[in-house]
Amino acid sequence: MKIIPILTTAVKSLFRRPFTNRYPKKKAIMHPGYRGRHDYYIDKCIGCQACVRACPTKTIHWHEKTRKVTIDLDGCIFCGMCEEVCPVNAIKLKEVIEPATYKRGKNWKIKGKKLAEQGNP
Ligand code: SF4
Ligand code: SF4
Repeated sequence: MKIIPILTTAVKSLFRRPFTNRYPKKKAIMHPGYRGRHDYYIDKCIGCQACVRACPTKTIHWHEKTRKVTIDLDGCIFCGMCEEVCPVNAIKLKEVIEPATYKRGKNWKIKGKKLAEQGNP
């Protein structure tokens, strides 16, 4: 075993900046197109159910009364199919990497918000 190159690398790395972020102090900046937690723009939704049919884990639920959907993150695999098939861009997977919450009902079921509340996609 060559000890000199190993020691050289070890000493050099003492003076280099770390390659990792000091998470959670420093938030990670996700690349555009990262498939994180959804935004569902309920105003835009035309109730075509394309997302319901496309979802491989059947985690998007259709509500006949309101003619809108609910996205249940329990079964979501963040594949992005719902976003892809939506003809009016009512679903957008955002760069949100921290969907965890202490109150499950609050963030775990996405019922949709008005555009004004969420900002334009
Ligand atoms: S990202 Fe994939 S699994 Fe998650 S709700 Fe959309 S289609 Fe279903
Ligand atoms: S595909 Fe889009 S417009 Fe159709 S039901 Fe789903 S969210 Fe609404």
